[in-house]
Amino acid sequence: MGVDSKPAVVVGAGPAGLCAAIELKRAGAPVVLMDENGKPGGQLFKQIHKFFGSREHSAGTRGFEIGRRLLADSLELGIDVRLDTEVVGIEPGLGVWAVERRSRSYTLEAGCVILATGASENGLAFPGWTLPGVMTAGCAQTLVNVHRVLPGRRVLIVGSGNVGVIVGYQLLQAGAEVAAIIEGAPALGGYGVHTAKVRRAGVPFYCGTTILRAEGEEGVERAVIAKVDRGFKPIAGTEETLEVDTICIAVGLTPALDLAYLAGCKPIFVPELGGNMPLHDGYMRSSVEGVYVVGDTAGVEEASTAMEEGRLAGIHAAYALGFLGEAAMRERTEATWGRLDSLRQGVFGQKRFAAKARILAEGKVRA
Ligand SMILES: Cc1cc2nc3c(=O)[nH]c(=O)nc-3n(C[C@H](O)[C@H](O)[C@H](O)COP(=O)(O)OP(=O)(O)OC[C@H]3O[C@@H](n4cnc5c(N)ncnc54)[C@H](O)[C@@H]3O)c2cc1C
Repeated sequence: MGVDSKPAVVVGAGPAGLCAAIELKRAGAPVVLMDENGKPGGQLFKQIHKFFGSREHSAGTRGFEIGRRLLADSLELGIDVRLDTEVVGIEPGLGVWAVERRSRSYTLEAGCVILATGASENGLAFPGWTLPGVMTAGCAQTLVNVHRVLPGRRVLIVGSGNVGVIVGYQLLQAGAEVAAIIEGAPALGGYGVHTAKVRRAGVPFYCGTTILRAEGEEGVERAVIAKVDRGFKPIAGTEETLEVDTICIAVGLTPALDLAYLAGCKPIFVPELGGNMPLHDGYMRSSVEGVYVVGDTAGVEEASTAMEEGRLAGIHAAYALGFLGEAAMRERTEATWGRLDSLRQGVFGQKRFAAKARILAEGKVRA
């Protein structure tokens, strides 16, 4: 065992990347975990709310606590974690091109590469969208939960999915007023448990409604919203003006694909999971030999599924590099598939399950 001395390189130290690195290291494989941030954990350290689901998926635990546990495990295992290290290219033959602290650049020859770079937030363009005070919901969440800075006093949230609703609640907890959450679709998008909390706090929700423009001199002072018809066209005469100083855009996430494209991974378009993403199989192997894709990069879901996908890739990569026998790889993989299936249940989960099944059916890219 251990035939290849080149390390497995995991790009992105969010839940998916941390779990992949932990599986590799536990199997005895050399592993380097890189993240462009100064702190590992990805999105987890912004999640101050309790997760739900099953106990084995840390239901009832706050996101940042899950992050802390994963970090403690990775430190205990002695994983080579390189922070402030941005990966800017994957060269043919699996050379990982990294830039450390925006100054030193180097290429690391990898035995395999696991891309766990997460997703980016979608923007929305409307007149006034460049005014100070218009930001993505994730940006507002980073300001409040990481830097302890309130982005504004009175906020409009555009988008009623989990991100919009959770960030709305966290802004309320931090002392802001949420003037409204508007949603273009005819029905709300987030889990009922989150929506109910925000509604109980007195925040009005408007479905079938969009933002027409943001107004103000030096920054946002007002938002003009309007009802939309079935074709998403604003209905004249339904305009309403809200006095707000902040507008948070929460209209979905798109898998971060730059490195997967640079590596030459074949894409697939799956709107239910965020649009374009790298095609992959059940072990999270992309179409390029030695390159795995996991977590939000392989289709936007949740932290719990990201962790399990990270484990799948870590287990298979340890096997491919010669650090894990086939029987152990199969046994651990089957157990992980079982846990993933149990996560993809319920109304929202079943949609994701069906979408993933489509990718995996098409993703039999290699034998
Ligand atoms: C408001 C909100 C609430 C949520 N609530 C829940 C919840 O209750 N339950 C749940 O299960 N999930 C929840 N999620 C979703 C969850 O946070 C994400 O699905 C999860 O973090 C995805 O994990 P990941 O490891 O794929 O990506 P991320 O956590 O995004 O990590 C990606 C990492 O890659 C790094 N990176 C990116 N590009 C590079 C590069 N080129 N070089 C080096 N490093 C790079 C980034 O710095 C980052 O650390 C929530 C998300 C949000 C925004």
